[in-house]
Amino acid sequence: MKSILIANRGEIAVRVARTCREMGVKTIAVYSDVDKNSLHVREADHMVALGGETPAESYLDQEKIIRAAKASGAEAIHPGYGFLSENAGFADKVEKSGLIWVGPPASAINAMGSKTEARALMIGANVPVVPGTKGAVKDANEAIEFARSAGFPVLLKAAAGGGGKGMRVVRNEGDLANALAAAQREAKSAFGDDAVYVEKYLEEPKHIEVQIFADKHGNAVYFGERECSMQRRHQKIIEEAPSSAVSPELRAKIGATAVMAAKACGYVNAGTCEFLLDKNGDFYFLEMNTRLQVEHPVTEMVTGLDLVRLQIEVARGKKLPMTQEQIQLRGHAVEVRIYAEEVMGGFLPSTGKLSLWRPSSGPGLREDTGMYEGAEISRFYDPMISKLVAYGETREAATDRMVRALREYRIAGVMTNIGFCRFVLDREEFRSGNFDTGTVERILLPAYREYIEQGEVVPTWLPGVIAAANKVFRTEINLAKSAKGSQQSAWKTAGRRAAMSNHRG
Ligand code: ADP
Repeated sequence: MKSILIANRGEIAVRVARTCREMGVKTIAVYSDVDKNSLHVREADHMVALGGETPAESYLDQEKIIRAAKASGAEAIHPGYGFLSENAGFADKVEKSGLIWVGPPASAINAMGSKTEARALMIGANVPVVPGTKGAVKDANEAIEFARSAGFPVLLKAAAGGGGKGMRVVRNEGDLANALAAAQREAKSAFGDDAVYVEKYLEEPKHIEVQIFADKHGNAVYFGERECSMQRRHQKIIEEAPSSAVSPELRAKIGATAVMAAKACGYVNAGTCEFLLDKNGDFYFLEMNTRLQVEHPVTEMVTGLDLVRLQIEVARGKKLPMTQEQIQLRGHAVEVRIYAEEVMGGFLPSTGKLSLWRPSSGPGLREDTGMYEGAEISRFYDPMISKLVAYGETREAATDRMVRALREYRIAGVMTNIGFCRFVLDREEFRSGNFDTGTVERILLPAYREYIEQGEVVPTWLPGVIAAANKVFRTEINLAKSAKGSQQSAWKTAGRRAAMSNHRG
């Protein structure tokens, strides 16, 4: 495999191209009209214009992409994440047209594509799933019947769901029928499929996911877990590896379960099994993402591996070069997703030109981005500016380093979540590990709002800063250091165990 077409844009296209270059593999970028000046295009060896502005006209147009691969002599397609990465039909077309698909077989994507079908498959493989209805519910009565037996609250979920869309928490019976109708409408418009099922809504769980990898020779391993409980609207903002709530024993158990899940669907290449972990240490399968995850760098930092290189090697038919016993985790990594968004305005995207952009650097940092100074954050695509990753020997060192890095980060032209993330990283909730998937919305956002309202806004470095930009420099707020960790909790005890076990090597 000497050349790969990267069917994506932005930071992930740049990320994949970097490994290709290190491996001596030629890269072919594709791009929409909006992206003609993008970094991912400039960094590639060859480029093919797809035309169009919207994803449907460009990165989601299967025929255009396969034509581009053929015309440019690409031997393989790497889909990145999002767009066509979890489209079984596309994976199939790629292989049928004689190209190598750097991803799992279409059959595995299919098996995991529907949440209800994936749950059924997992139940068959003895993998614990969140209690829920067997499949999509026919009507409100069926939903009510389940909710009565499982107890409220329940969560309505689109079978075809993704990206936190089409989910509704229902806390009492009176609301169920209306909520179901609304969820079905939402599912229909977002995914073209109105199938909705019901799950027990777990109170205050942690989101723990396991990175797995399988080759074409029947070998499969796990590379430890990531914790992604810092979420807004069911979407991740800060991720880390390892989790402070996972002991070595739990890691082995949840890891083996993830490998079992992968084997149950004939999985090959990189995948992620997502679980919810409750305070009793019980975990439940949520879904499997059949692609590289946004947050894969934290796993790379603590394992020392390049997951894209492994993806390419596995796609070439090579055996996994390591056994489970050879995989060692070392240190701790934290990732912040830096978004162009208005935190206080309900996390709405903030579009515009990056009139100033100077990302932080220094020891132990990694920045994955598709941006450059002068780039436009357009309304057509996800407003993520970059993924900043900090590594340290301990969780505390990695967190301190991230706080330092966020202080250094200079950006103007759009609003960002940098100030909010800094605020979160220095809060007792984060420092103690005592947080769950609802902590941002329950506690941290209200606390941040209060902080902003009372706080001093200090543009510390740019003299004569203009009034409009002042908003942006809210990131420069002098954050009061909150007391570090004293609260006792189930998470904390588990965390201490995990922290002790992470000083290996
Ligand atoms: P999506 O595919 O849309 O991302 P997931 O099933 O992966 O949806 O869930 C995303 C997030 O939603 C989880 O990380 C968690 O915060 C929340 N969530 C999902 N299912 C449940 C549940 N049964 N109970 C509590 N929270 C849930």
